[in-house]
Amino acid sequence: MRSPSCRVQAFLAAGHVCSVMGVEEYPELAERFRVPIVVTGFEPLDILEGVRRAVRQLERGEHTVDNAYPRAVRSEGNPAAQAMLEDVFEVTDRAWRGIGVIPGSGWRLSDRYREFDAEERFSVTGIRTVESAACRSGEVLQGLLKPHECEAFGTTCTPRNPLGATMVSSEGACAAYYLYRRLDTTPLEASPVA
Ligand code: SF4
Repeated sequence: MRSPSCRVQAFLAAGHVCSVMGVEEYPELAERFRVPIVVTGFEPLDILEGVRRAVRQLERGEHTVDNAYPRAVRSEGNPAAQAMLEDVFEVTDRAWRGIGVIPGSGWRLSDRYREFDAEERFSVTGIRTVESAACRSGEVLQGLLKPHECEAFGTTCTPRNPLGATMVSSEGACAAYYLYRRLDTTPLEASPVA
C-alpha cells in the first residue's frame, strides 16, 4: 500500500486466516491507508457479499473493518490456535514472489523446534528461487495489470505450467482468470426493439 503505483482500493480479508488471527490488527491499517477491509468467507455468496460491502464503503467514502463472516470469525480470533503458532513459529523477513522481501512478514520454526527444521537438517539454506522475467504477478497483485494482459497468460503460463505465484494456486488471480475466461465473452449486440 505504500507503493506510489498501488491501485488497490479495498481488501477482502481471508476468512480462514481471520478465524485464527482475529481482526484486531486491521483497524489501524484501514485507518492508516484509508482503505476498507472486509472479512470474507469463500462461498460464492460470501465473496459477493464481501465485494458488495467493500463497494458500499467506497461509495460512501468510508474505510472501516467490516466482518462479513461472523459465523466463523470472532474479533479476537482463536486464542488457542494463536498460542500454538506462538509456540511453534517466530517472525522473520520473507520474500514474496512478485513483490520482494517484506520485513517481518513471514514465519520460521522457532528454536524450540529446530530439530524439525528442514533448512537445518538437510542443508538446503542456499536454495534460491528465480522468478521468470516474463512474469508480471507483482503488477497483478497491486492491481496495475489484469492477468489476461500479461503476454505469458494462457500461452507459456498456465495452471499446469505456472510462471508465477498468481497462477499457482486456484485462488490466484491469474489462475482464476484462466479457469473462468470462458465467461469472458463479448457482449451481445442489443436486439432490435420489436
Ligand atoms: S499470467 Fe503467469 S506470467 Fe503472467 S503475471 Fe500471471 S502468473 Fe505471471
